[in-house]
Amino acid sequence: MDSKKMQKPHAICIPCPAQGHIRAMMHLAKLLHSRGFHITFVHTELNYQQLIRTGAIDPTVEIEGFCFKAIPDGLPQPEDANEAPDPIESTKSISKHGLAPLRELIRRINGDTQGGPPVSCMMRDAFMSVAQPIGDEFGIPDVAFWPIAGSSFMGFFHIDEVLQRGFFKDANCSANGYLETPIDWIPAMPGIRLKDLPTFVRTADPNDFFLDFSRQAVQTSLKASAIILHTFEELDYEIIDAAKHKFKLQPPYAIGPLFALCDQIPNPKLNSIKSNLWKEERECIEWLDKRGDATVVYVNFGSVMTVTPEQLKEFAWGLVNSNHPFIWVVRPNLVSGGSAILEAEFLEETKGRGLIASWCAQKQVLDHPSVGGFLTHNGWNSTLESIHSGVPMLCWPFFGDQQMNCRFACTVWGNGMEIDGDVKREKVEGAVKELMEGQKGKEMRKNAMKWKEKAREAVEVGGSSYISFDRLVNDLLVMKR
Ligand code: UDP
Repeated sequence: MDSKKMQKPHAICIPCPAQGHIRAMMHLAKLLHSRGFHITFVHTELNYQQLIRTGAIDPTVEIEGFCFKAIPDGLPQPEDANEAPDPIESTKSISKHGLAPLRELIRRINGDTQGGPPVSCMMRDAFMSVAQPIGDEFGIPDVAFWPIAGSSFMGFFHIDEVLQRGFFKDANCSANGYLETPIDWIPAMPGIRLKDLPTFVRTADPNDFFLDFSRQAVQTSLKASAIILHTFEELDYEIIDAAKHKFKLQPPYAIGPLFALCDQIPNPKLNSIKSNLWKEERECIEWLDKRGDATVVYVNFGSVMTVTPEQLKEFAWGLVNSNHPFIWVVRPNLVSGGSAILEAEFLEETKGRGLIASWCAQKQVLDHPSVGGFLTHNGWNSTLESIHSGVPMLCWPFFGDQQMNCRFACTVWGNGMEIDGDVKREKVEGAVKELMEGQKGKEMRKNAMKWKEKAREAVEVGGSSYISFDRLVNDLLVMKR
């Protein structure tokens, strides 16, 4: 390899092995590549094989300066080879076994003078705390990428204080309205309640995996060379600023929506790399093409969440009774303790009016003029995509940071309305009607359009995220461990 290429900066990108995290990191990697970085993108072996199966990655296509590497998951092959690996199990396993293979991978890369320049920085998902020692061991900057909103970031950073203040001591801590307890000591987040905090704090077991996982992400980020948040300043500035002061952080880089920044890269080969762990069904777009403007409700609960067979049924009949056309993405593994097969009666009732798919090109769906509302679990990627598309949301959060995203959509940004936890068909019907026909729906749509504009401005040349990304690139080039 010629000496000029060997001097290129080289970012090793390490996502958490779950759909939303992989996608956000992939966008960050593409952006860095477009600014001259050599990229090594690290998947777990099972995810890598799955991405090849779905056509998201074509291993025969070579992209100059962009390489994939896979490390062992430490898990057996799933029984159904077509099913995506379980993200929770993958995350648990990689958090335990990931360090040695990552270390070995970097040694190999650095020892191979033909393969590319030596690794000069690590971009890791903040939740991949397991990788943190690599920064010191190889003397490279360790950049912690939080693929979440500023409010959730603030929530994670307060987990220790929540515990120190004596909350969640009792094993029944989530019962009897306890979660409604207001919290007035987190700066820049007035009105939040215990139930809005990252749900991983809701345990009395100090050894709980996800509690430890959350605290590790914070502890390792406090030692990181830099912190990136997947958001934009107009949405989150005050909170990020408050977090910076309270935790004495270097100013975090607010860079988002990353997918929208990526849309500006004029490299079709690079943009052909996708991150879908399921095969996209193209029919959704064709189906939407035949509908009127803002007439369709889009329902999708992301890649991790599960529902009970009863909840599936209540959502189904709520949608039927609303009388609005809908697309509902029912992942093959959406239902826990049952199958994702919908009743024949439901399918008969909604013939021609409802489309059931197993996975779709979500951003394209949200951008389609026929979509008038999004019934979502408020995963951060889905929420940010909805904001960027200007689509109002019906929120049904499940876990992690989703409750906080719901809270902000419903009370701060004004583009969301919550269906509370205990889902019943009447509630779903009423909420869908309100969203699509009601006064509240109109207001939410207006606010959604306002945020759409702001999200788009943020990524334009001179916009806040554009400038933050520029700053990141310049800083990475001079940053030392
Ligand atoms: N997604 C998709 N098609 C689907 C469902 C989801 O492309 O049918 C994408 C969605 O656009 C988002 C990601 O998968 O980028 C899900 O991430 P999110 O943070 O919203 O939720 P999670 O899956 O982590 O719960």
